[in-house]
Amino acid sequence: MKVKINSWRGVATWRWIANDDNCGICRMAFDASCPDCKVPGDDCPLVWGKCSHCFHIHCIMKWLNSQQTSLLCPMCRQEWKFKG
Ligand SMILES: [Zn+2]
Ligand SMILES: [Zn+2]
Ligand SMILES: [Zn+2]
Repeated sequence: MKVKINSWRGVATWRWIANDDNCGICRMAFDASCPDCKVPGDDCPLVWGKCSHCFHIHCIMKWLNSQQTSLLCPMCRQEWKFKG
């Protein structure tokens, strides 16, 4: 048997990555803009990665620019690729 089941851990991990309502970087709701866009009417679009995590474009660009080596999703640490 190679499969190891650790169900409580799976549930905890799932809850942590399920950021459907909030940006995982700035923690602001997706229907609000990111902290860099406090001016009403500023365009703060959302972007999705191939890993299906979603962020404000300003947040993910800031995150990616701060990465020295490989570009990883800040939520799941998979390689970040823009979806679509
Ligand atoms: Zn954000
Ligand atoms: Zn923004
Ligand atoms: Zn991800």
